[in-house]
Amino acid sequence: MNLQQLHNYLEGQTEPVCAYLYDLAHLRRRVDTLRRNLPSQCKLFYAIKANSDAPILESLLQRSDGFEVASLGEIQRVRAVDSAVPVIFGGPGKTDAELEGALEHRVTLIHVESEHQLRRLDWIARQRNQVANILLRVNPAYVPQQATLRMGGQASQFGIEEARIPALIELALSLPGVRLKGLHIHAISNNLDALTHLALLEHYFDLAEAWQRRYGLAFDWLNVGGGIGVNYAEPLAQFDWEGFCAGLSALIAARQPGFGIIFECGRFLTADCGYYLAEVTDVKSNYGKHFAILRGGSHHFRLPVSWQHNHPFVILPRDAWPYPFSRPGVHHAQITLCGELCTPKDVLARDAHVDDLRAGDCVAFLLAGAYGWHISHHDFLSHPHPDRVYLDNCIERI
Ligand SMILES: *Cc1c(COP(=O)(O)O)cnc(C)c1O
Repeated sequence: MNLQQLHNYLEGQTEPVCAYLYDLAHLRRRVDTLRRNLPSQCKLFYAIKANSDAPILESLLQRSDGFEVASLGEIQRVRAVDSAVPVIFGGPGKTDAELEGALEHRVTLIHVESEHQLRRLDWIARQRNQVANILLRVNPAYVPQQATLRMGGQASQFGIEEARIPALIELALSLPGVRLKGLHIHAISNNLDALTHLALLEHYFDLAEAWQRRYGLAFDWLNVGGGIGVNYAEPLAQFDWEGFCAGLSALIAARQPGFGIIFECGRFLTADCGYYLAEVTDVKSNYGKHFAILRGGSHHFRLPVSWQHNHPFVILPRDAWPYPFSRPGVHHAQITLCGELCTPKDVLARDAHVDDLRAGDCVAFLLAGAYGWHISHHDFLSHPHPDRVYLDNCIERI
C-alpha cells in the first residue's frame, strides 16, 4: 500500500477515523516472492493465528502450501474457505473433541505435544478406524538467544523435552492409531537475524538426523516452525530472507537431508500488509509531557503494549478543521500516542519524535497486519470497533 491509498481512504471519512487497512495485492506479491527464493525441498505454510480473516486465507490459498492452525476453530476457518487445502494442527491443549475434529476435517499432520496427547490421539483415531499422521513437537535443549519470545530451549508448556523424545518415538512406533512422519520444532518467535536462524536450522537437522540413525527411520518431514521476525524498531532493516534462503540451499546441498522441510510462518507473511489508522482526537500537555489521544488504542491493536515497544507509525496530516477555535498540536516535539481507554497502559508509542502533529491528523501504524486485531481485547470499554477494510482491486469491508 502506498501513502496515496491511505489518503484516499481518509478522504471519504466523516467520523473520527479508526480503521485497519489490509493490502491483499501486496500480500500476494510478497508471498510469491518469498516462495520463489525457497529451495524446492521446502514448503511454506501460513500460521493463521497471526491473522485468520477469510480474505487473508483466500489470498494465500493458492500461494502457500497450506495452513498451520492451533484450534478446532481455526481448522473450521480454513475449511470454510477450502475443503481440501493441507492443514497442520499444533498447540499444547488439544481436547479430545479437537483431535476428533482434526481427523474429521482431514488434517494433514497433527503435531503431538506430550505423551498424554499422543496416547489420546492414538485412542481416538483407532475408535474411528483412522491412522493419524503425526510429527512429535520437540522442545530443544538449546536455541540461540536473539528472539523476542522463546517457546523452547527452556522449561515451557510447549512440546517434549529432548531427553524424552527417544521414549516417545518408541511409543509412537508401537501405537497403531498414529503414523510418525517426523519432527516439529517451533522454539522462538521474532528472530531478526538470518545467520542465527540458519544456525538454528542446522541444529534441528542434527537432532533429526541423529534420531533417524538411532531408530533406522526415514522421516518425511522436519517442521522448523515459524518465528522469522519483523523489525518494528527499524522497519527498513528487515530479516534477510534472500540471504537466508541462499544459506539454506547450501545447507541442504551439503547435508542432503532425506526429509522435506516445512516452514509455518505467521508474522513474517502478514505483518506488512496491514495498517492501523487512528485519528488524533486531542493533543495536550501534562506536567511537561505531550500526549496525543487517538480514536482507537490497544483494545484494537494490543501488539505494542504486549511487546512493550514503540510501534512505528507515519503521520497523515489533514487540513480540515471544523471548529471556530484554535487547533491543538505540537511542532518538533516528543509526544506519547495514547488510546482512548481509561488505563495508563493504553500507549502505542511513548515519547516519539514528531515534526508536526495536530488534533484531526491521522496516525498510521505500520506492520499491523499480524497479531494486531486478532490478539486484542476488542470490547473493553465498549467503543466502536475499527472499520476493517481489505483493499484489493476493489474495496471490500468485513
Ligand atoms: C505462533 C506459531 C507459529 C507462527 O509464529 P510466527 O512467529 O508468527 O512466525 C508457528 N508455529 C507454531 C507452533 C506457533 O505456535
